[in-house]
Amino acid sequence: MLLSSKKKSGQSLEMDELKKIRNQYEEDKQFYINTVRSLLILIKQFPLNLKEIDTDGFAHQVNALTEKFVSGKKTAQIRSVFEKYKKIIFSFIKIHKEYLGEREKDFKEIIDILTKAMMDLGVENQNYNERIYKQTENIEKLTLLDNIKAIKSAIKEEVAQIRASIIEKQETDNRQITTLSKKVSTLETQLKKAESESLKDGLTGIYNRLAFDNHIKNKVEMNAIGRSPFSLLMIDIDDFKKINDAYGHQVGDRVILAVVQKFLAFIRTDDFPARYGGEEFAIVLSGATLRNAVKKGKQICKALAATRYSVSNADDNDQYLNITVSVGVAYAHKDDTVETVIRRADNALYQAKQAGKNRAVSEKELN
Ligand code: GH3
Ligand code: MG
Ligand code: MG
Repeated sequence: MLLSSKKKSGQSLEMDELKKIRNQYEEDKQFYINTVRSLLILIKQFPLNLKEIDTDGFAHQVNALTEKFVSGKKTAQIRSVFEKYKKIIFSFIKIHKEYLGEREKDFKEIIDILTKAMMDLGVENQNYNERIYKQTENIEKLTLLDNIKAIKSAIKEEVAQIRASIIEKQETDNRQITTLSKKVSTLETQLKKAESESLKDGLTGIYNRLAFDNHIKNKVEMNAIGRSPFSLLMIDIDDFKKINDAYGHQVGDRVILAVVQKFLAFIRTDDFPARYGGEEFAIVLSGATLRNAVKKGKQICKALAATRYSVSNADDNDQYLNITVSVGVAYAHKDDTVETVIRRADNALYQAKQAGKNRAVSEKELN
């Protein structure tokens, strides 16, 4: 009895031990199930709520797995279920990562598009502000769209329209600039023509009295500071009144023109020929000494005297005219004024007339 009771007590000890171990096992099992469950719940929370990659579907899968864990199925069953879900979770994580990577790229591209568009907006385009403002409003609306790809393509479209507006504006500007510059250049030409016409004599095309007065004033001033020596020829047609009287004013005009054409052949481009009065001309010879100027005066006299001019009259009988001129020559001194140098040339011209016309007289020959 005692023995059997001893034996019994040994068995019950073993039973207690086993019970304890089993309880411990149950406790551990529950703990692991709870831990895995908590981890699954956390995994479910982890992804962003994104329709494009079906995060809801993923959440359902994780829920299903969680339930299978807690439903108390056998370990072998749970193991095979877990293997299946492990693959699902892993592939979802991969998709999620790729999705975020792509979105980051998209955002970078959007920033790039907008930066470039902003740079284009730097161009002067005031008249287009309103239009562009509207387009930026459209861009603002786009931010309400969910799909990032749609946002990107819509932004691209808006930016393309902004660019087109700017290009259109630039083209309008260019056209206006071209038209304006054409107008400006026409006006410039007209102005130059008007200016030169106001300085030219209508009959002969050489400088008029006004131009001569300005030119000689400038030459005298420059000469006073030793920069621009010159000589002055005063040329007067001999007996012009007689030509007018005999042949009329029209012939007289043609004679004036013929005289000018003749003496122009003897002067240089930097000389300044002007119609000083009716049939009187002045030529400023730049850099010419008195000697050279007298020589030139004589050449002009000689060339004119050597030419015969035909005049047609009413009877159609050609008549020939001999035209001569008298020339007075002066050389500008440093202390000359416009009046003094002209006066000396005039006096020399008067002397030439007095001496019988058709000649050039130097101021040096004045008494
Ligand atoms: P001299 O030999 O002393 O110079 O005598 P002249 O007859 O040439 O000089 P005068 O001053 O007596 O006469 C000049 C004339 O020239 C008077 C004027 O009617 C004429 N005359 C002035 N300007 C013009 C013009 O533009 N055309 C014409 N046809 N005649 C003009
Ligand atoms: Mg005369
Ligand atoms: Mg005269």
